[in-house]
Amino acid sequence: MTLPRLGTIATHETTRKLARRLEAGAARILSATVSRAAQRWFVSFTVEVQRAIPAEHARPGRVVGVDLGVKTLLTGVDNSGKIVTVEGPRALRSSLRKLRRASRGCSRKAAGSANRRKAAARLARIHARVANVRADALHQATTGLAASYETVIAEDLNVTGMISNRRLARAVADQGFGHARRMLGYKATWRGGRLVTADRWYPSSKTCSACGTVKAKLSLSDRIFVCEACGLVLDRDVNAATNLLKLAASGAESQNACRPRVRPGSAGHRGMKQEPGPAPAGQTGTVRAQARTAGHLSSHAY
Ligand SMILES: [Zn+2]
Repeated sequence: MTLPRLGTIATHETTRKLARRLEAGAARILSATVSRAAQRWFVSFTVEVQRAIPAEHARPGRVVGVDLGVKTLLTGVDNSGKIVTVEGPRALRSSLRKLRRASRGCSRKAAGSANRRKAAARLARIHARVANVRADALHQATTGLAASYETVIAEDLNVTGMISNRRLARAVADQGFGHARRMLGYKATWRGGRLVTADRWYPSSKTCSACGTVKAKLSLSDRIFVCEACGLVLDRDVNAATNLLKLAASGAESQNACRPRVRPGSAGHRGMKQEPGPAPAGQTGTVRAQARTAGHLSSHAY
C-alpha cells in the first residue's frame, strides 16, 4: 500500500482481493483513513465496488425470524420449523475475564507511572481482541443467515435505550445488536434477499407464540416463557423468534430495513437505524487494513 508521505508499506493481511478488483476496474477507492488502536496501525478504505446482485435469492421463500439475544448471540426459527442457535464464542468469555483482571491491574498502578502506562497498553490490547472476536462471530453468523434465507426478520431494538440500563450494558454491547442488524441488512441485499425489521414496539418477547396472549410483564431474567392463558412453556428466545417469523408471514411487519425511518422519539438514534440501501449505482463497501506497529499493514475485506 502506498500512502502519501509514508511511502509504500507492507500490509499484515493481504490486499490481493482489493487489488484484483481495482485492476479489473470493478472497484474504485474513494478515500483512506489511517488510525491507531492498541498499538496497531489501521488503514480503512472507502471503496466503490461493482457487485452483481442476483435478481432472486438462491433459496426463495425461505424465511427466518431472528431474536438477537443476551444469553445467546442469536436465536432463529425458520418457516420449516427449524431452530437455529448461535452461541457467543467461548473466546469472548475468556477474554472478558482477562479484561476484568487487566482493568483491576491498571487501576492499581500509580497514575503517571511507567507501570500504569504498560498496564493501560495491555488493557487496550485486550479490548481490541474482544472487539475482534465479537465482530468475527457476528460476521460468521450473519453470512450464514443471509445465504440460507431470502427473508430475515429481526426486531428493531432500541439499542441506545438498553445501553443506558447499566446491568444490561455490557451484555448488549458484547453482542453488538446494532452491528448485527447492519450486517444482516447489507448481506441480505448482496444475495438478493432482504432484512425486514419488526416495529420497535412490537412485543415479540412478551407475546405467546401459540395463542397470541400478551404478557403485561416479562423480566429479562425469565429465560423460559410460560403462558398463563394456554400453558405454553418455551425458551424465551425461541418464542420471540417464532413471533417474528409469524409477523413476516402475516405481512404485518413494518418497512424494509433498507429504508431508514423516522419515528417519534428516535431523532437521536437515526444513525443506528440506517441500513445500507440497495445502492442503485453499485455497492459501496469498506476494506479495512491493519498494521502492526509501523510496518506490516494488513487488510480485512468484509
Ligand atoms: Zn398462550
